[in-house]
Amino acid sequence: MRPSILNPLFASVDTLNGIGSRFASLLKNLCGTKVVDLLWHLPSGIIDRRCNIPLISAQNGQLWTGRVRVVEHIIPHTRKQPYRIVVEDNSEQLILIFFKTFGDNLSKQFQIGTEKIISGKIEIFNRSLQMAHPDYIVDAAFPERMPLIETVYPLTAGITNKMLNKQIFQALQNFPDMPEWLDERLMKQENFSSFKQSLWQAHHPQKFDDLSPNTPFRRRLAYDELLANQLSLAIVRQKLKKQKGITISSQGKLKQQLLQNLPFKLTLAQQRSIAEIENDMQSDFRMLRLLQGDVGSGKTIVALITMLNAVECGYQAAIMAPTEILAQQHYESLSQLCNLIGVKTALLTGSVKGKLRKQLLQDLTEGNTQILIGTHALFTEDVTFKNLAYIIVDEQHRFGVKQRLSLSQKGELCDVLVMTATPIPRTLVLTQYGDMEYSKIDELPSERKPVTTTVMPISKIHDVVTALEKRLKDGTQAYWVCPLVEESEKIDLSAATERYQSLQKIYGSAVGLVHGKMKENEKNAVMEKFKNGSIKLLVSTTVIEVGVNVPSATIMIVEHAERFGLAQLHQLRGRIKRGNQASSCILMYGYPLSDVARQRLNTMKQTEDGFIIAEEDLKLRGGGEILGTRQSGFNNFRIADLSIHSDLLQIAYKDAAMIINQDHELQSPRGQNLRTLLYLFEQDEAIRTYKAG
Ligand code: ADP
Ligand code: MG
Repeated sequence: MRPSILNPLFASVDTLNGIGSRFASLLKNLCGTKVVDLLWHLPSGIIDRRCNIPLISAQNGQLWTGRVRVVEHIIPHTRKQPYRIVVEDNSEQLILIFFKTFGDNLSKQFQIGTEKIISGKIEIFNRSLQMAHPDYIVDAAFPERMPLIETVYPLTAGITNKMLNKQIFQALQNFPDMPEWLDERLMKQENFSSFKQSLWQAHHPQKFDDLSPNTPFRRRLAYDELLANQLSLAIVRQKLKKQKGITISSQGKLKQQLLQNLPFKLTLAQQRSIAEIENDMQSDFRMLRLLQGDVGSGKTIVALITMLNAVECGYQAAIMAPTEILAQQHYESLSQLCNLIGVKTALLTGSVKGKLRKQLLQDLTEGNTQILIGTHALFTEDVTFKNLAYIIVDEQHRFGVKQRLSLSQKGELCDVLVMTATPIPRTLVLTQYGDMEYSKIDELPSERKPVTTTVMPISKIHDVVTALEKRLKDGTQAYWVCPLVEESEKIDLSAATERYQSLQKIYGSAVGLVHGKMKENEKNAVMEKFKNGSIKLLVSTTVIEVGVNVPSATIMIVEHAERFGLAQLHQLRGRIKRGNQASSCILMYGYPLSDVARQRLNTMKQTEDGFIIAEEDLKLRGGGEILGTRQSGFNNFRIADLSIHSDLLQIAYKDAAMIINQDHELQSPRGQNLRTLLYLFEQDEAIRTYKAG
């Protein structure tokens, strides 16, 4: 259970004074629904109101704060004229200007002869000083009410900076004293103060430099977040490691048979990865390994060969894909190969129903099916295996830590291989998988031809359409990917549908459309037509992003490529690297084109190496957006920024390993405090694994 001192932080934001349901719903989009979400919403700027010089020296446009006497009210004759109040300090007069008011309040607020402290922007007009609607007006008796340094937060429509400042201040005041969970030596070395103190400082920048992610206080917060991340991964990992697994050690007969039937030789990188996986499978600990390989590097065959290992020993193996289309595709390529060597496969997805499903489940229970291919429904539903020993999860970045935990609970002692087509920089492997072992297929089959990548403005779309017409007539197949408009699927959809309709006018029935809102069977039907060539041009939203395999498609057109992330573009381009024909990728951009977007497109033009692209992506955008999608799971950090804090990540990684080594149940006094840290950063899942045993 969450320590009770944290309860106020995890209460809904509307428990704060002055936050009603409307404000709360605006906050939800800005930072979240809990009080703690407000605290992770760090300032992006400061307004410095400390300029307090005689009025006579004030410059046009300057933010000025000072004490003034009220001299005179100039009352407007019509509504159109502003209400004006003349004030002065000892050097000069200043005219305060108020629009759209009859001045009832103003005459009370600014009584002649009284003194006020005001702050706002000075404007010089016809040689006289003016200030329209001062930002702050406080009674001269209470100078402390003037915020000399105002913290500026990222905002959203309907929330003012003043409102947000007030609420965050309130949340900070309620922040409990936390037990110290950090090592004293590290605190000294990094010049860290307590968590609470650091949080306070982060929200009270005194100068511009205080907004930097490199201040000791922001680093402390980032460190804690990273430590919570590393600790929870270490806990899960430790749990998996402690379990004795199954020893799978075949003679490799099926593998030999398969290799004889393959029309190609394995690359060295494939051979090396297979050897590493086999080695894990032979040991009596549970395997948990990540297989990284760029699109088209040939992960599927590596998966199959290692599954044959289990099959030959009389076990079952399962491979799980994130979508039905992908599961279907795996099934097609795997079953074809398996048929050659007499290994029995089956495909289980949500659309397999009725009698067929019953038979399929029975075959699994009885062990007639040796390799099962499916979506993640495989593990959430009532599927029983006879003796499952090996699970492969494809394109894992679509799954979160939670799914990974439930997976490891389902497949009790199974060896687990996670495959990802997104090359991940070392630092991100660490945050996402902890010290999970990994194999890298860093080499493409040698007959692959490079892709020609062209970057052009979208105004040239007509040239593209004309050129494409010729190619389609010659029998070439192509993808046309439509832009991401904001994060709304509805708008994406209309962009894709519109493009589909306009292309249909030109190319007729050779065009097909797939998008995320289509039913699985409709989608499959269109994909099927694309695969068998009756559709030549496939218009889509980004649903084709992951893994779709149509070797004869050799052209990829991406509209508004500037709106896609690097990793996404790389994935998209990967779609046309499947066959051995030359292929081309056309990235069309629109304006505004930010510097970062320009660099991204340049990178795409310059290299096809996924690992280089991934590093570049990390540099350009920071870890948070590495995959350009929310659900990526890399986006978990609220404060830490991996493009800046990777040194802290290394320390946190070592710290976590040491903690778990010495106090593996987090029972020591420091361990207890660390539990609070885990809850603070919502890593409850990890703590629950202790209870799960
Ligand atoms: P990915 O890593 O993207 O999943 P796949 O496993 O789908 O890649 O492989 C892409 C294509 O390359 C498949 O058609 C596969 O048969 C082929 N392939 C795999 N390994 C090799 C190899 N060593 N030489 C030539 N072609 C290969
Ligand atoms: Mg694949």
